[in-house]
Amino acid sequence: MKARRKRYRNRNKKWGKMLLMTGIAVFIIFILFNFLGRFIPSEEEKKAEDYKKAAEMAGCTWQELVTYDTVRYENNLKNVNPYLSAVDFVKMYYEIYNYVETENGGYWALVSGGTLSDSSSIWSWFGLDSGSDLNAVLKASKKYQKPEFVIRFSPKELNDLIIEKGFSEKQIQWLDRLMTSGSLDEMLGSSYALPDYIESAEQGYFAWPTPALHVITSKFASARKHPVFGITRAHNGVDISGDNAEGSPVVAIDNGVVISVDLNGGERGINIKVQHNIGNDIWISRYQHLSTVQVAEGQSVTKNTTIGTVGNTGVGTGPHLHLELTYNGVLIDPLLLIVDK
Ligand SMILES: [Zn+2]
Repeated sequence: MKARRKRYRNRNKKWGKMLLMTGIAVFIIFILFNFLGRFIPSEEEKKAEDYKKAAEMAGCTWQELVTYDTVRYENNLKNVNPYLSAVDFVKMYYEIYNYVETENGGYWALVSGGTLSDSSSIWSWFGLDSGSDLNAVLKASKKYQKPEFVIRFSPKELNDLIIEKGFSEKQIQWLDRLMTSGSLDEMLGSSYALPDYIESAEQGYFAWPTPALHVITSKFASARKHPVFGITRAHNGVDISGDNAEGSPVVAIDNGVVISVDLNGGERGINIKVQHNIGNDIWISRYQHLSTVQVAEGQSVTKNTTIGTVGNTGVGTGPHLHLELTYNGVLIDPLLLIVDK
C-alpha cells in the first residue's frame, strides 16, 4: 500500500516537472520569436533595399528608379519588380570578334558591334523571354565572357528614358515634382494609389496656401534634424515663407469645413484643421504657427478664401506656414498636390 502511494506520488512529480519544462520552453520560444521578429525586415524595407540594389546594378540612382516606377504605376509599387524596371535603365554595347589565323599567329577581327538601347532588343539579343529582369540579363551576359565578345552596360539618363517611353506631359510634371519633393523614402514607406482626380490635375489639385509667399523653407521628410530641438525627427509637412511673412494671408487649399481651431496648440502654435471630402476620400489640411484666425469651428470655407494669417506661434525659427496634409489618415507630402502658379 505504502509503496503504491509512493510510486503514485513520484509519477505526479514527474508530470509536474514535465509540465513546468514545457511551459518554460514555450516561454523561451515566444520571447525568441518576438526578439527575432524585430530583425526581419518589413515588406517596405525589403522593397526599398531591392530598389537600391537594382539601381546600383543598372548604374542609375535609386531615386530615379523609384520615381520612374511611381509615375508609371501610379504610386502602386506593391507588385512591381525593381529588377525588371532596372532593365529599362540600361543600354548595352557589344562587339563580336572572329579569330583570323595567319601565318605568323593570328588576330581577333571585329565582325559586328552596336548599341542596344531598349530592353526588348537586349532580351532578344540574349534570347531571353521578354520580361526577364536585370538579374537574368546579367546572368546571361556572363556566358559571353569570352575573347570573341565585348559586352558593356551603361545607364540611361532618366530624361531620355521618359522620351523613349512616351511619358505624357502630365506624367513628366508628376515626375518632376517627385524628383524635387524629397519624399521618396516616405513614398516607399506607404505605397498607396492616389485617386484619379489627383493624378489628372495638371497643376496640382489643391490651391497654394499662401498667395503672397513663395519660398519653401523646409520640405516634407521622414526624418530631418529639427532646427530648434536639434534632434532628428520627421517633418510632417511643408514650410512656406518669404518677405514680410508675418501677417500674410493663409487660404484654404480647397472647399471644406473647419473641423478645429486650436489657439493653444503647443509647438504647433495657433492652428486650423480643414476637412475636404472628395467622393469617399477624406483629406485634412492643417495650417500651423498662425498669428490670427479668421474662421470658426464648423464653418464652411471655399477654396482660396482667407482663413488666417501667417505667424510665429508655437515652436519655430521665424514666421512661416507649416502645412500638413493627410489623405484618408495618411500623412502625405503637400508639395505633390499643391503647385505655386
Ligand atoms: Zn514645419
